Amino acid sequence: MMNNKGNTTREASSFAFAEAQKHIPGGVNSPVRSYKNVDATPPFIASASGSKVTDIDGNEYIDYVATWGPAILGHAHPEVVKAISDAAANGASFGAPTLIETEMAQQIKKMVPSIDLVRMVNSGTEATMSALRLARGYTDRELVIKFEGCYHGHHDSFLIKAGSGALTFGTPDSPGVVKGIGQSTLNAQYNDIETVKQLFEKYSDNIAAVILEPITGNMGVIKPSKEFIQGVRNLCTQYGAVLIFDEVMTGFRVSKGSAQGLLGVTPDLTTFGKIIGGGLPVGAFGGKKEIMEKLAPVGPVYQAGTLSGNPLAMAAGLTTLRILDETEGFYEKIEEKSARLEKGLQDALNETGIPGVINRVGSMFTLFFSNDEAVSSFADVSNCNMAHFNKYFMSALNNGIYLAPSQYEAGFVSIAHSNEDIDQTIDVARKGLKAL
Ligand SMILES: *Cc1c(COP(=O)(O)O)cnc(C)c1O
Repeated sequence: MMNNKGNTTREASSFAFAEAQKHIPGGVNSPVRSYKNVDATPPFIASASGSKVTDIDGNEYIDYVATWGPAILGHAHPEVVKAISDAAANGASFGAPTLIETEMAQQIKKMVPSIDLVRMVNSGTEATMSALRLARGYTDRELVIKFEGCYHGHHDSFLIKAGSGALTFGTPDSPGVVKGIGQSTLNAQYNDIETVKQLFEKYSDNIAAVILEPITGNMGVIKPSKEFIQGVRNLCTQYGAVLIFDEVMTGFRVSKGSAQGLLGVTPDLTTFGKIIGGGLPVGAFGGKKEIMEKLAPVGPVYQAGTLSGNPLAMAAGLTTLRILDETEGFYEKIEEKSARLEKGLQDALNETGIPGVINRVGSMFTLFFSNDEAVSSFADVSNCNMAHFNKYFMSALNNGIYLAPSQYEAGFVSIAHSNEDIDQTIDVARKGLKAL
């Protein structure tokens, strides 16, 4: 049995995890959930409501994982729950056109004006995989530039120097990826436009697309410099490559118009996921009409999905997007909460003298245990004190604060987080930092 050396016990979770490992690889259906890298037992979650999750031992945690991003309204938002249950009563899936799919497309286009046409899929991975195939089909080129530490899902082309769990578990280049496919992915450095320029100069007419997280979350939160993000846009335009913003995490998170609205840079294609499904499995990709019309059945690039545009998923996603769009001052309010958290954490760092850098964009944040003045590149993230992170993480967990178990991840504030939640989080953080 695990000894958590803290205030909470997780005996039921320990038993559940041991049992799960007999039947599911590593006991989990997605690797970071295993807590393997922090050498701990993950709490098994029984339920969640608002800003809190509750495990099967009855421990309650203030949640900053937010199901890895989707829960911007908090968990089990009554309107979303009702939308899902109403949809379920009408039949869970038809595999045929429905009215709500058009409403969803209209809602996305209203909030993100660079989208002329959009297609729904079932995950972020599927969205980026499909967007890349489309970009290749549209340009009749094969190479794609991605950035070290950015994560775009788990399909072959993007498991090259990938971020998030792939990085946490030391497998940014996964075995099983076909060599030829791996060779068509070129790597550049985030916030270093020279590395992108060099690749374009070398492979000019063969680069189909550049894909990036316009604000990263999967190596922790990093903001692009103006020169970098505008430089990438300019190079894509100059060389006729498709610029894909992977907004699976940032979409509808950092502003109503997503990262592209905030940064004022317009991609050719955008991928969505997470928030767009309101907690159900959804992704989407969309963009310029000229490119999107290469997709079957209009054009020759094939892409399909039995459950794509699923009525339950559309109901959850559309309800979520409408609340985000129509609630007066939503993004100002979540900014206020997030700024309160940032200030409290920064004060705690200052008081304790523990070296750290907090990066935050809206309700996405990472506390990097860094000795540097700023964290703006993959190299900066790699220099962080991972031992400090792990201790800090365990102290938070044992004191009722649920964070992602890796330095290479973002935390998420939801609209359901109260000032009391945030102040309690800051108190626990201060205690954790003091103990380092
Ligand atoms: C989460 C994420 C993905 C993958 O989405 P899944 O739904 O897990 O397949 C892709 N890109 C980014 C930027 C993400 O944050």
